[in-house]
Amino acid sequence: MSWLARSKLPDVGTTIFTVMSRRAQALGAINLGQGFPDYPIDPLLTELVARSMRDGHNQYAPMEGVPALREGIAAKLAASYGLRFDPDSEITVTLGATEAIYSGIQAVVGPGDEVIAFDPAYDAYEPAVRLAGARCIRLPLAPPQFRYDWDRVRAAIGARTRLILINSPHNPACTVASAADLEALAAAIRGRDVTVLSDEVYEHMVFDGRSHVSVLTHPELRARSLAVFSFGKTLHATGVRVGYAIGPEALTAELRKVHQFNTFSIAHPLQRAIADYLIERPATGLDLPAFFQAKRDRLRAALSGCGLRLPPAQGTFFQLLDFSAIAPPGDIEFAERLLTEAGVAAIPLSPFYAEPPQLSCVRLCIAKRASTIDAAAERLAAFAARLARGGA
Ligand code: GLN
Repeated sequence: MSWLARSKLPDVGTTIFTVMSRRAQALGAINLGQGFPDYPIDPLLTELVARSMRDGHNQYAPMEGVPALREGIAAKLAASYGLRFDPDSEITVTLGATEAIYSGIQAVVGPGDEVIAFDPAYDAYEPAVRLAGARCIRLPLAPPQFRYDWDRVRAAIGARTRLILINSPHNPACTVASAADLEALAAAIRGRDVTVLSDEVYEHMVFDGRSHVSVLTHPELRARSLAVFSFGKTLHATGVRVGYAIGPEALTAELRKVHQFNTFSIAHPLQRAIADYLIERPATGLDLPAFFQAKRDRLRAALSGCGLRLPPAQGTFFQLLDFSAIAPPGDIEFAERLLTEAGVAAIPLSPFYAEPPQLSCVRLCIAKRASTIDAAAERLAAFAARLARGGA
């Protein structure tokens, strides 16, 4: 058999997140690589999941999601953005955001189409585009600011462009899109047959008094966008794999055609539990800016003056680490040194680029207990001091 010779994704390996988590475990390193919390979830959620199974919600859930959860999502969107969405026709529960992204792409693009994504781009985007038979055009967000170059976007949009993939708060750049960005996007696609897929899984993780600017708040974009969210992020429980996609009725109908044959329906007891949780904790998500900003600031304070620089982090539960003052460019090599010599796993940015530039940044996850952040910072600072002394 020549599966490899016929591979549909010949250049794709195991994701960098899985690779780094496996290696961190094998080496006993502190894992600030793959983005997941290491502290306990709210015991109420645990109790509600158990209750939901005890109450017998253990058979197939409706394909589009449990009604009570879709109503809870509608209430949550109303509380967050002051907007109304129809739970029946505009909200679909998915297997994490990843399934929403995958199914959304399959629903909208096909052979001969082009999709625009921005580098550094989350690694799930391009494979989903290619499996749909479409081509992914990757445009840079230039470091260190990682801002959109809208002239370049306008020049890249052509007759074949069917979809533009955006992400804010941005993983791994830790930037947030502005209202002006959304206005520029809307202007760039006005009058064209282009859909927007907006990955907003870090919607509640925005810092220093900022607020998240969702595509849903822009009426023109709302009419042509699928916005993707994640309870895994908002409930500090990445293992629950429950997300949702919001889109206008006709787009939601197309999404569900794919979703029903991809994952069919999402874990019923978890959906019931999350629906109940949103009723008991109606302010879910609203405490996250302060919660994660404190973690970000703890890490920044612990590393100040050690030679490793921390660029501004406006959002997400990550923080970039700039090593240009103490080591030559090469993020893959530096992440390897951090892992083997400092005992800290980080994520290099190169895997997020079609054509990686010379990079001097790696990504750290801040969704960790204070003791984990302190221990990792101690190791990173000691490593930086060894490098500064010229030691190996
Ligand atoms: N979203 C997670 C991150 O950016 C990774 C999830 C995964 O491992 N696929 O770290």
